[in-house]
Amino acid sequence: MTRLDSAIRRLTAQRDLLDWASRAIGPAGLVLEIGLGNGRTYDHLRDRLPGREIYVFERAPAAHPDCYPPDGYLIVGDLFDTLPPFIERHGRGSAALIHIDIGTGDEDANLSLARRLSPLLESLLQPGGILLGDRAFPMPSCRDISAETKVPEGRYFVYRRE
Ligand code: SAM
Repeated sequence: MTRLDSAIRRLTAQRDLLDWASRAIGPAGLVLEIGLGNGRTYDHLRDRLPGREIYVFERAPAAHPDCYPPDGYLIVGDLFDTLPPFIERHGRGSAALIHIDIGTGDEDANLSLARRLSPLLESLLQPGGILLGDRAFPMPSCRDISAETKVPEGRYFVYRRE
């Protein structure tokens, strides 16, 4: 597989899962986009979930100018600084959907980041809430339902809070 093939497969999985999750979540609860990047997946989510409150987290905003959230919905800073006050403000169990795409090419760093972030993400998910991630997140109160979606194994990770 070429790197182009791999990029296309990853983006296809990402889009298919965002579409699937947009249909699967209930009507109540926040949507969190973690890692704005270029703004592509945020743009997709806001299109698929019109009228829904979508909060976006990013430490170094540099998205396409058309892909910024409205005032008050972009939370700038490192996640370990911004997530705890967000949880204080909105409460545990306030999110219906979390999409997190923040990995780098450094697998050791990715593993350590996922381990440290997992308790914060887990506490934000409401019962039945869904997390889509670009990597595995160890969250004991969530079930890994990746295999129930059509995404090929290991390409993207899907969890549902019990
Ligand atoms: N899904 C996005 C898209 O479709 O355009 C791409 C996201 S990009 C791969 C990852 C983003 O996560 C980067 O913009 C990076 O700055 C942000 N990020 C990574 N680690 C972060 C952290 N600890 N706190 C806040 N933002 C972080």
